[in-house]
Amino acid sequence: MAKRDFYEILGLNKGATAAEIKKAYRKKAIEFHPDKNPDDKEAEAKFKEAAEAYEILSDENKKARYDQYGHQAFENGGGGGYGGGMNMDDIFSQFGDIFGGGGFGGGFGGGGGQRRMKGSNLRIRVKLTLEEIANGVEKKVKVKRKVQAPGTTYKTCSTCQGSGQVTRIANTILGRMQTSAPCNACGGAGQTIDKKPSDADAQGLKVAEETVSIKIPAGVVDGMQLKVSGKGNEAPGNGVSGDLIVVIEEEEHEKLQREGDNLHYDLYVSFPDAVLGTSKEIDTVTGKVRIKVEAGVQSGKILRLRGKGIPSINGYGKGDLLVHVNVWTPKTLNKQQKDFFETMKDDEHFDPKPESSDKSFFEKVKDMFS
Ligand SMILES: [Zn+2]
Repeated sequence: MAKRDFYEILGLNKGATAAEIKKAYRKKAIEFHPDKNPDDKEAEAKFKEAAEAYEILSDENKKARYDQYGHQAFENGGGGGYGGGMNMDDIFSQFGDIFGGGGFGGGFGGGGGQRRMKGSNLRIRVKLTLEEIANGVEKKVKVKRKVQAPGTTYKTCSTCQGSGQVTRIANTILGRMQTSAPCNACGGAGQTIDKKPSDADAQGLKVAEETVSIKIPAGVVDGMQLKVSGKGNEAPGNGVSGDLIVVIEEEEHEKLQREGDNLHYDLYVSFPDAVLGTSKEIDTVTGKVRIKVEAGVQSGKILRLRGKGIPSINGYGKGDLLVHVNVWTPKTLNKQQKDFFETMKDDEHFDPKPESSDKSFFEKVKDMFS
């Protein structure tokens, strides 16, 4: 089934503002909320669909990609898309805040019984050099997260006696029906705040700066998201902390260009060096290496340094470093140099005589991918 347009899902037009997107999502989330639609698979699917649309449209970066490329922008798992869809826990932990309102408002659970509140997730961007990506790196980042303020105490909710649920008897056309819903007074947690210090917010939390150490494996890709469990915002009472979502950003390298796990390097050699042969020092992600350039090298030749690329994120092998040889032809000559080349002009030794080993550029490209 073709995916529906994200704006259409939320009942919006392209160009909707962030506030409009949030408002529209909130409306849909409440309409299709599983607590309101128990055992309704269709409502659940719509609830997820709206969350997926909101996940993209609420993120400036992803929204820009979606606006430009549509759903294609996130296919093939490229750069932290929504891939296999979100599950209910993800939705509640990521967008719990949007429901706001009574009690702790931290996040609704999947229905039934007392629920442990989950703190909201935090999101940070981490910039990495190509060298850091190639070798893996541990980054220490400062994160401002909500933690339980010292001195905050909690008590059992007096409205639901700690069960997190309230039952209501409603008269409907089908007769009297008993429904249970999360307790509004405590948001379903079964606890409310007893005492809190003056610098704590309504949930008994305050913002504290913490240094979090993040182990980043080799081979990550720009846009990829890593999760550090429990390093998001804390939840009130006996709730569990949200997660810290780390979005990878790859810095551009001065000399190397990345293409998947392979790297490309443009090597320029002078005319005499190409004729006579030379050795050149080039940059790799693990330091400089010296490579030999054979006498008589042709412009366009690709030298492949096996395993000098980026390790596969799946832990399987390494890419190569492809060195592209460019013979630099002088653009200006003095009189003496000009005379020198003039004398070579009619020497048939200088006529091009490509051999089968001097493949054309297109044949080389074909080889690279075979
Ligand atoms: Zn309660």
